Amino acid sequence: MFKKILIANRGEIACRVIKTARQMAIATVAVYSDADRDALHVEMADEAIHIGPAPASESYLVADNIIAACKQSGAEAVHPGYGFLSERASFCEALESQGIVFIGPKPKAIRAMGDKIESKKFANAAKVSTVPGYLGVIEDADHAEKIAGEIGYPVMIKASAGGGGKGMRIAWSEADVRDGFDRARSEAQNSFGDNRVFIEKFIVDPRHIEIQVLADAHGNVVYLGERECSIQRRNQKVVEEAPSPFLDEKTRKAMGEQSVALASAVEYQSAGTVEFIVDADRNFYFLEMNTRLQVEHPVTELVTGIDLVEHMIRIAAGEKLAFAQKDIALNGWAVESRLYAEDPYRNFLPSIGRLTRYRPPQEGKFGSHVIRNDTGVFEGAEISMYYDPMLAKLCTWAPTRIEAIDGMGQALDGFVVDGIEHNVPFLAALMKHPRWREGRLSTAFIAEEYPDGFKPMTPDGQQTAALSAIAISATLIEANRRERYADRLRPAALPLPEDWIVKLGTNNYIPARLLEGLATIPFEMDIDISGTKLNVVTDWRPGDVIWRGAVSGIPITAQVRPFLNGLRLDWQGLSVKTRVFTPRQAELDRLMPIKLAPDTSSLLLCPMPGLVVAIAVIEGQEVKAGETLAVVEAMKMENVLRAERDLTVGKINARKGESLAVDAVIMEFA
Ligand code: ADP
Ligand code: ADP
Ligand code: MG
Repeated sequence: MFKKILIANRGEIACRVIKTARQMAIATVAVYSDADRDALHVEMADEAIHIGPAPASESYLVADNIIAACKQSGAEAVHPGYGFLSERASFCEALESQGIVFIGPKPKAIRAMGDKIESKKFANAAKVSTVPGYLGVIEDADHAEKIAGEIGYPVMIKASAGGGGKGMRIAWSEADVRDGFDRARSEAQNSFGDNRVFIEKFIVDPRHIEIQVLADAHGNVVYLGERECSIQRRNQKVVEEAPSPFLDEKTRKAMGEQSVALASAVEYQSAGTVEFIVDADRNFYFLEMNTRLQVEHPVTELVTGIDLVEHMIRIAAGEKLAFAQKDIALNGWAVESRLYAEDPYRNFLPSIGRLTRYRPPQEGKFGSHVIRNDTGVFEGAEISMYYDPMLAKLCTWAPTRIEAIDGMGQALDGFVVDGIEHNVPFLAALMKHPRWREGRLSTAFIAEEYPDGFKPMTPDGQQTAALSAIAISATLIEANRRERYADRLRPAALPLPEDWIVKLGTNNYIPARLLEGLATIPFEMDIDISGTKLNVVTDWRPGDVIWRGAVSGIPITAQVRPFLNGLRLDWQGLSVKTRVFTPRQAELDRLMPIKLAPDTSSLLLCPMPGLVVAIAVIEGQEVKAGETLAVVEAMKMENVLRAERDLTVGKINARKGESLAVDAVIMEFA
C-alpha cells in the first residue's frame, strides 16, 4: 500500500479523499493556489504545497506543477478527484512516465470514454444500448438537417468533447437544427477547444439513471447499483438518490450487466460511472461513461456500505477486489442535495462573499437515520469567483425513501449559512414537493415545476400556524429573559397578556390566545391559533439561530434571525418575517403606511458582483425584448442580460472591463 498520496484537487472532494486516506494510514499532500491558502483541504492534509495563482488554468490544471509537488513531497500516487485533471489521459501518462501512480483508470480507457462519439461507438460494439443517432461528426448545416430528418424530431445536437452539462442543444425542427448546429459548434469550440458535434434522438422527459462500477487490474468488474439524478437544472444535477424509485430488479440487472460489459471492453480499472437515460417504458440508453469518481458517489456508499475512494486506492495499488457481485446488496435509501453559493430567487445566479456563519447539521447516526455532509468550506471562509460554487453535499440515509427525504428536509432546515446567497431554501422546498416525494421524476422536473424560476412561497394553513407558534414562543422566551436581569429596577413583571396577534409577512394577521404557558427552559405552552389548539415545546434560547422543538408532537427545526422589531423565520424553504403584537399594537400597525419597493423597471441592474464583459447597446438604441443588453462575468460564467421588453436605451453608466457590485445600475431606459 502507498505511504503517501497527493490529492490534485480542492474543496469538498479533496477533503473527502483525505478522510479515507487518513483511515487507511496513508499520509496526504494537498496542493493549493493563491486563493486557497487558508482552505479546508490545506488544513486537513498532512502537508500542503503551493502550485500557483488563483485561476485554475495556472494552478490546479497545470500537470507539471502537480508532478513537481509529487517529487517535492515524495507522494507515490495522485488522486485527481473530479473535474480539473481527472479525465485527462495525458496527465496519467505524464505521471506514469515519472513513476507516479494515477489513482484512476488507465489512459486508454480515459481516451476511449472521454469522447462522446468514440465512447458511443465503443458501447455499440460492446452491445450496450445507446441513444439512436448518427455515430459520426456532423460536417455542416446541410448534413445536420439530413441526419436529423433521418433520426426524426426532436433531436439533440451534442459536442463530442462536452461535459458538465455544456455544449448541447435540442432541435424540434429543421430551422432549429440549422441554428442549433452553428451555435453548438461554436460553443463546443469555445468551451472545449474542439468543434466536433454529433446528433442523436432527444428522449423526451427521460430519467437520468447511472450505474456505479468498480473494476480492478485483474479483470474483476462489479456494479454497485444505480443512482438516479433526474433532478437537474440546465442538464446539471442538483439532487441525487440511490437506489432509483423507478427501476425494477430486471432493469437494474440489465443496466448493471451492460455497464460491466462496457467496463470490461475498455479494460477499465478503478471506480467509474456509466450514465443512461431511461424512458417511461424503462427502455434505457447509454449516454456516456465518466472515468472518475462522481460528485454524487456518497449516495452509493451509503446504500452499499462500500467506501469508493478506499477501493480506488486499493485498486491503484494493485490489490484484487475484495468482493464479488453476489456480495453487493443495496440497503435502505440515500439522498444527496448539492448546496451551491447561488441565489435561488435570482435565477440561481452565483453569489460570492464571506461565509459569516456556516453551521452544517451534525453528522452521524441518529436512531435509524444517518446524516453525512461532504464539505470544503468553513465559517469565515471566502467563496471566491474562481472555482465551482458548490459549498457542500448534504446526504441523508434512512431505511425508506420517504424517511430519507424527510431526514433531508430536517437537515436542510438546520443548515445555517449566512453571508452569501445559497440554494438551501430551494432544496428545502423541493423536499416538500409532492411530485418529488412520489418519485414521479424526469430530467425536465425543475423546468416543469418551476417554469418561472423559484419564487418566495407563502405558507399554507398548517405552516402558518406552526410559524405563528414559533414566533410567539421565541417572543415569550425573550420577554422572560428580560424579566430576569438581576439588577432590574422595575418591579417583577405583570402576568403575560393572553391575546396576541402574529403578523406574518406584510399583511397577514393571525390571532392567537395563550392557554397555558410556562416561561422556563425548556419552554412549553398550549396555544390557540386561529381556532386550532397547539402544544409547543422548545429548548430555544435567545440568540440561538436554530429553533428546535415540537409543535403538537411534530419535530420542527427552524431558523430564527432578528430583524427590526421582529424575527425572520426560515423553514421548509419559507422565509417569513414575523412580528408578535398585542391586539392594540396590531390595530395600530394596520394603520401604518406600507413602504413600496422602489421601481427599478426602467433600470438594468447588475444581478451579481461581477465584471462587465460587454455592453451590447449604445445610448438611444431601440431594443426588442430578448435582445442582449450587456454581458457580466462572475464565477467563470458569462451571464447575458437581456431586455425584458421592447425599450429604448437611455444613459449607460457601466463600461466594459468595470467591476460592479450587485444592484449597480448598468444602464437606464428612456
Ligand atoms: P455531460 O457530459 O455534460 O454530463 P451527458 O451526455 O451526460 O453530458 O448529458 C447530461 C444530461 O443532458 C443528461 O443527464 C440528460 O438530462 C440530458 N441529455 C443528454 N442527452 C440527452 C438525450 N439524447 N435526450 C434527452 N436528454 C439528454
Ligand atoms: P457528475 O456526474 O459527477 O456530477 P458533472 O457532469 O456534474 O459530473 O461534473 C462534475 C464536475 O466536473 C463539475 O464540477 C464539472 O464542472 C466538471 N466537469 C465535468 N466535465 C467537464 C468538462 N468537460 N469540462 C469542464 N468541467 C467539467
Ligand atoms: Mg453526464
